[in-house]
Amino acid sequence: MARDLIVVGCGIVGACTALAAQQAGFRTQLVESRFPGAGVSAAGMGHLVVLDGPELALSARSLELWREILERNPRSFEYRQTGTLWVAESGADQAALATRQATLAAAGIASAWLDPRALNLEEPALAPDLAGGLLLPGDGIVYPPKAVHELLTRAVALGATVRCGRRVTALAGDGVVLEGGEHLAGEVVVATGGAGSELLPELPLMARKGHLVITDVSGPSIRHQLVEAGYTQGVHAPSGLSIAMNVQPRPTGQLLIGSSRENGVFDPAVSTEVTAALVRRALRFLPGLGRLPATRIWTGFRPATPDGLPYIGHVPGRGPVWAAFGHEGLGITTAPATAELLVDRILARGSVLDGAPYDPARCLG
Ligand SMILES: Cc1cc2nc3c(=O)[nH]c(=O)nc-3n(C[C@H](O)[C@H](O)[C@H](O)COP(=O)(O)OP(=O)(O)OC[C@H]3O[C@@H](n4cnc5c(N)ncnc54)[C@H](O)[C@@H]3O)c2cc1C
Repeated sequence: MARDLIVVGCGIVGACTALAAQQAGFRTQLVESRFPGAGVSAAGMGHLVVLDGPELALSARSLELWREILERNPRSFEYRQTGTLWVAESGADQAALATRQATLAAAGIASAWLDPRALNLEEPALAPDLAGGLLLPGDGIVYPPKAVHELLTRAVALGATVRCGRRVTALAGDGVVLEGGEHLAGEVVVATGGAGSELLPELPLMARKGHLVITDVSGPSIRHQLVEAGYTQGVHAPSGLSIAMNVQPRPTGQLLIGSSRENGVFDPAVSTEVTAALVRRALRFLPGLGRLPATRIWTGFRPATPDGLPYIGHVPGRGPVWAAFGHEGLGITTAPATAELLVDRILARGSVLDGAPYDPARCLG
């Protein structure tokens, strides 16, 4: 008989988990307090990117799974294989990218070094004084709200059910309690993103605020997602404000400009200072941005764990409760591998990835 699985939260992680669970033979119910994709998934950039730090295994496996997912109906995700072009501003950046290239090559991930001339040919809109770039052709972009919708549609087609506008107020040992008191029985996956600690306060979680700016269509033309080499230092910075150039060409012709990270800021309001710093940094690399009008500016909160890796696995002392949250700024990328690993852990079967680095038990006091 099929096992009942309740997935709490329908962002990218909950939608991927529901799909993987249905494929594995569970009877899955998704419970979402608002509507699918209403959380941080709607605020993200949708860059599918392999990182070379602690996130390497999860992001690389996810890109493999994304390619399988995207074999069918890639347009419904607004997918583009833009690649990522990591841009070096200095000799030090160049050296850091050489190390990155070696690490990625050891993991079987192809990349190509572009000297300044080749960089200019690849992306003529970039400033002429840059030191080169590292191109990862396998990376891409999706539009996250549409990705959530399509993944959910696939899960529902396999028999998953969804309840929107229903908040889970408590875990009950053998299921969950909904607002109003209704009880649902089954094993539980908590995939509530930045609200993860509300149901599981024993798992620490921080919010890292980010700003994004989207321009109108009259800007310089770029083909790749452009990211400055130092971006990953900001990802791992424990405190303060960090800004790094990160610009995505949207299929519409607009440019999506990031990215900022702020720790300890909880007000969702757009900050003029942070936005100005973000745009100044982008201008350093793309001078043609000039006075290009922004059509929208928004913020979102990345759910971050103390060690930067998500919680994926069983929560000790909670009965049949599993965590799948804390994906910081990489959850759109890493949702498919999260779902695969989680379902394998629930079924107590082997998995492609070693689950130990993501085990929630590592962060319990
Ligand atoms: C500015 C910015 C840029 C980003 N760019 C990228 C990027 O380019 N690439 C990338 O890979 N990642 C990116 N991210 C990160 C990515 O958006 C997140 O890691 C990812 O969306 C997390 O998804 P999630 O499903 O865990 O959370 P969410 O999308 O927040 O989903 C959780 C869901 O749970 C629901 N919920 C909460 N509590 C309850 C409850 N009690 N009962 C029922 N439902 C509940 C919420 O309503 C929500 O829909 C970015 C994030 C930000 C902020």
